Amino acid sequence: MSESIYSGPVFEMARQQFNGVADHLQILEEDRARLLYPKRAIAVSCPIHRDDGRTEVFQGYRVQHHLTLGPTKGGTRFAPSVDVGEVAALAVWMSWKCALAGLPYGGAKGGITVDPYTLSPRELEALSRRYMQEMIPFVGPHTDVMAPDMGTNEQVMAWFMDTYSMYQGQTINEIVTGKPVSAGGTLGRREATGRGVAHLVGRALDHLGISAGSATAIVQGFGNVGSVTAYSLAGRGVKIIGVSDHTAAYHDPAGLDVADLQRHVAKRGQLAGFSTQSAIEPSELLLRKCDVLVPAAMEQVITWQNATELKCRILAEGANGPTTPGADAILDQRRDELFVLPDILCNAGGVIVSYFEWVQDLQRLFWEEAEVFDRLYRIQERSFQQVIARAKRDGISHRMAAMAIGVSVVQSAKHTRGLFP
Ligand code: NAD
Repeated sequence: MSESIYSGPVFEMARQQFNGVADHLQILEEDRARLLYPKRAIAVSCPIHRDDGRTEVFQGYRVQHHLTLGPTKGGTRFAPSVDVGEVAALAVWMSWKCALAGLPYGGAKGGITVDPYTLSPRELEALSRRYMQEMIPFVGPHTDVMAPDMGTNEQVMAWFMDTYSMYQGQTINEIVTGKPVSAGGTLGRREATGRGVAHLVGRALDHLGISAGSATAIVQGFGNVGSVTAYSLAGRGVKIIGVSDHTAAYHDPAGLDVADLQRHVAKRGQLAGFSTQSAIEPSELLLRKCDVLVPAAMEQVITWQNATELKCRILAEGANGPTTPGADAILDQRRDELFVLPDILCNAGGVIVSYFEWVQDLQRLFWEEAEVFDRLYRIQERSFQQVIARAKRDGISHRMAAMAIGVSVVQSAKHTRGLFP
């Protein structure tokens, strides 16, 4: 395919990664475009009344990568950077992630180009509802199921579910996941991604023979994924020595109190103002020495410029796409000293527990929290073992191994079904 609407640095990253894996798997040239390019992309305009009386229109997108294994599944991002290329890249990564975890889904992603921090609660509700209203012809519990991502949360999912349900004339909880428990959500979904990251970090520490009690960690991003990861790691005895968000970065070799940080953010909405003593330049945080570095904010923060300078033992990718292909080439050379938990393995806890939420909603039968996490950890253990074994067998990086497993699952399903899905 020589021309496409998918462009930009994030899609270029997803394309380059895919081509690397396709070379490794020796996928025929003629099969590559079918595997990489999304099944469909929807662009919508979402007008809302602002609080000052003006009408403003926001652009929204949803990209559904493939429908070969079942409905598509993926988060919804409210951020100023959102464009169709970024959303498509995230949808592609979701496909490999779901396939690696063995979930019956293709990948999807959606979003609105907006800075959600500039909206009042009423405006946020109006925009969320309008977005879902525009998406009604294209989504459904067996077509495409949304979830939260950057800039959205349980409340936004509840508005999505309510808007969809009102149009159908009945409550359809299974249209989105990541809902509050009171609106048909599952126990554990809010914490699932972060607890899953912490669980895999625990497995990587075991693998390397490092005890959690002697380990230190730095977490970039203090939203859903970052704050829960930090809290769960601290619960496992890991000392959290650095955190950051879009407003501030803090570093203290003696350890930061994560519960205090969470209380501060709950009150102020941001990390800024927490402390003056431990504040550092945000760009320095990733380069400080630690055992575990968790980028849990945004894409492309580990690049060829800083990859040589990382001083961690484990890189646990809580965010999607934090490492550029240029950085990956460097990390590949540092394979013996730096253990990478690639995003599609590391942060899959969110979509795995979203899958559990969908299953429970469809069955109208809800599980105890212990069952949710027991099942999550079992799936994560299987994926972790598969990735380690594949990387060792083929002499490839963990990322290449994880993607090779995911891409092969989708390729084989497409091969079996034929050209349509
Ligand atoms: P969120 O909106 O809850 O939090 C994002 C955090 O990143 C905020 O603390 C924000 O201040 C911070 N941030 C933004 N710009 C930053 C910068 N320049 N430097 C440092 N911090 C910055 O979002 P989230 O749901 O926690 O998602 C974070 C990442 O994890 C995204 O890449 C997302 O795609 C990925 N992810 C999320 C889930 C999920 O279940 N929420 C699942 C898998 C992957």
